[in-house]
Amino acid sequence: MTTREGSLEAPTRHPIDWKNPEYWQEPKIVAEMGRIFDICHGCRRCVSLCNTFPTLFDLIDEGPTGELDGVPKEKYWDVVDQCYLCDLCYMVKCPYVPPHPWNVDFPHIMLRAKAYEFREGRMKHPVRDRLLSSTDRNGKLATIPVVVQAVNAGSRSKPLRALGEKIVGVHKDAWVPQFAPRKFRPNAQASRSHAVRDGALSPGRVAIFATCYVNYNEPGIGHDLLKILDHNEVPYVLLDKESCCGMPKLEQGDLDHAWEWATEGMRLYAEAGDPTGIAMHLDDLGELALLDGDPTFALRLAGAAEGVREKIAGGAPPTLVQNTDYVANARSALPGPGAEAAWAAGRALDRDAAIAEALESRRRPSGPSEAG
Ligand code: SF4
Ligand code: SF4
Repeated sequence: MTTREGSLEAPTRHPIDWKNPEYWQEPKIVAEMGRIFDICHGCRRCVSLCNTFPTLFDLIDEGPTGELDGVPKEKYWDVVDQCYLCDLCYMVKCPYVPPHPWNVDFPHIMLRAKAYEFREGRMKHPVRDRLLSSTDRNGKLATIPVVVQAVNAGSRSKPLRALGEKIVGVHKDAWVPQFAPRKFRPNAQASRSHAVRDGALSPGRVAIFATCYVNYNEPGIGHDLLKILDHNEVPYVLLDKESCCGMPKLEQGDLDHAWEWATEGMRLYAEAGDPTGIAMHLDDLGELALLDGDPTFALRLAGAAEGVREKIAGGAPPTLVQNTDYVANARSALPGPGAEAAWAAGRALDRDAAIAEALESRRRPSGPSEAG
């Protein structure tokens, strides 16, 4: 095994291989957890990030051997329970993320384990998790006038919290956010008519996706953002018909629900005319097309994303150009003129045609397309 230190190259994020039957096989999941846990045991950099790593290291240190082989494999799932998929260990700490040959992607193996538990119905608190992850529905119900005061008072009541702990499994002392009597979206100030001035690397207009938390719990964050944009004379628009981004469902391992809601995001960005959001979603779908075994369609969508990006000043900001590894992988899977033809055909699509094709692609069965 190599001993080369990591963090010397830009990280590569491998796609989530959730259409592959092996992704769902418990022995393979447990084996991959064991491989990564053992590397983490020898490293321990992430001990202060969250409760996941202390849980793992305590299991190892308190075991009979002081090594991972002393931890019963059933205990691996206790580690999984502690991760809330914030991605920090991958993004800021780990020197062994790909392309390092050790290929440590801790959040991805946690997601895989959670998705397996969800699909197998092995969640420890299914009622609590389903309830809390329905943030949009909770927000709509809890912010009804009068109801909102009752909900907030209930979440501060010690007897009710003790009862809630017994019934749904939310610890009586856990911090829970309050709901706002005045939601963000209906009370957001409309943008003043500032002229659109494109920057060197970003468009001069902002489309705002407020999120459930800002809309229902912390509207002040949204109002402050609008004031900053207005002060800087940047026109903005709120995305129409906003819905949950799907992240709370993803955190439960509910990949199907998360996929459905994330797809809705592209429709919203399209309606707002936001090219960076559309291009990002086209790339995500291109990556999925490659995973479905369709490099031709992946390159077509990659070309479409590039075309959408180029229609704004100087292309998208670099931080928004993600997932481009899949393009290189699709090209290697499809050498020759076919790759260039698919890419060029995608670039020639106008924005609306590209969006329609991308969304339609998720409805057809997996497998190579005739696109090109
Ligand atoms: S992704 Fe999970 S394990 Fe990594 S820092 Fe976040 S909560 Fe902890
Ligand atoms: S995720 Fe990476 S940095 Fe964190 S403990 Fe594991 S090997 Fe070390």
